Amino acid sequence: MAYSEFFNPELETLSRPQIEALQLQRLQDTVCRCMGSPFYKKRFDSIGLKPSDIRSLEDLRKIPFTTKQDLRDTYPFGIASLPLDKCVRLHSSSGTTGNPTVILHSARDLDQWANAVARCLWMVGCRPEDVFQNSSGYGMFTGGLGFQYGAEKLGMLTVPAAAGNTRRQIKFFTDFGTTVVHAIPSYAARLYEVMTDLGIDPRRDTRLRIFAIGAEPHSEEQRRRIEDMLGVKAYNSFGMSEMCGPGVAFECREQNGMHIWEDYYIVEIVDPDTLEPVPDGTVGELVLTTLNREAMPLLRYRTRDLTRIIPGDCPCGRKHRRLDRMRGRSDDMIILKGVNIFPIQIEQVLMQYPELASDYLITLETAEDNDTMTVEVEMKEQFIDDYALLQNMERNITARLRDEILITPKVCLKPFGSLERSEGKAVRVKDLRKKY
Ligand code: ADP
Ligand code: ZN
Repeated sequence: MAYSEFFNPELETLSRPQIEALQLQRLQDTVCRCMGSPFYKKRFDSIGLKPSDIRSLEDLRKIPFTTKQDLRDTYPFGIASLPLDKCVRLHSSSGTTGNPTVILHSARDLDQWANAVARCLWMVGCRPEDVFQNSSGYGMFTGGLGFQYGAEKLGMLTVPAAAGNTRRQIKFFTDFGTTVVHAIPSYAARLYEVMTDLGIDPRRDTRLRIFAIGAEPHSEEQRRRIEDMLGVKAYNSFGMSEMCGPGVAFECREQNGMHIWEDYYIVEIVDPDTLEPVPDGTVGELVLTTLNREAMPLLRYRTRDLTRIIPGDCPCGRKHRRLDRMRGRSDDMIILKGVNIFPIQIEQVLMQYPELASDYLITLETAEDNDTMTVEVEMKEQFIDDYALLQNMERNITARLRDEILITPKVCLKPFGSLERSEGKAVRVKDLRKKY
């Protein structure tokens, strides 16, 4: 059957001036709606700002930022703009970095969210003939229900396998002819390991062709590995509970940055210290304003995720701008001996070694008042018994890491399967340093 390239041609093919006109109109509506929120009403009143003061997109900058702390301070319902009888669901963030926060949704919000996810999946070639399997936890984690409703909206047959039970997951691939999978990147690697154990060749024994991978930072090298191992195309998917969940930004088939849906969000990238906007192409903190949400709109929400806008147009023709791969959150940044390091920089180096498996752990410790970093990384099974080779490789990896992060870590190659596997998002850093 011949399909259009677009799930929603009208919104996906808007020109820049059309996007901006729609954004202004939706921003003004959103700000008016926020006056139903006790939190925003008080905040606007305290600085003498009125919804009618927002006359252009530049006027957005008159509005103060909203922070995760604001969500915590008003926990659970204090920011909502609609009364609870108009809300039909709440989600709570997975709490990777502290207390959970709550986001409320109306029926319309859920429908719009499903449209956004369906648009993402359609963009990478998912069609109603596909069989979609979701390996995310269902429940509070938005990667479960978020992808579920989006995939149904698109019209695929869905397999809500949920997290864990990897053998059963793989049995579903073969029994149901799964073609599309949503997985966090560390779990995609795990699926391959277990398939190998079971003697299943993904290319020969399954119909897998597309993976949506997201929810945690991962490098380009990690993506290529997943593609090579599983014989699929893997597309980066970005979302967060505060912005609904998945469906915020997604790669198109060019695999060159994630289009952020600007009919749903206004994007700003700011310097995390001065909070001033940075030019396109410069890395800063992602700040998002929701434009298509009624129960709990958020204005200028500081995501703490660090990324940049990729300058220029995408060859796919969509004018919704592209976000670069996330560097990590500002609070993931390691500061060791005054040097700023992101775990992803270490991953990039490790993943270039075909002998290394995908799991690694960075441990920071204080030894005799000196802070040290140890990088433990698993070998693929076939390489573990040659001691001279191991030592040589450790030296080689240490030197490459030093070039990248400017300090010298201790590198330990570990037998396959020896590092602890986490249930949800991978834990890559353990900080055991003495705090002064
Ligand atoms: P929590 O904040 O408790 O982890 P969420 O499930 O809302 O709960 O996680 C959202 C966060 O996950 C984002 O702010 C971002 O840091 C990370 N994230 C989501 N998708 C990606 C992605 N594709 N690449 C890197 N990081 C991602
Ligand atoms: Zn594109």
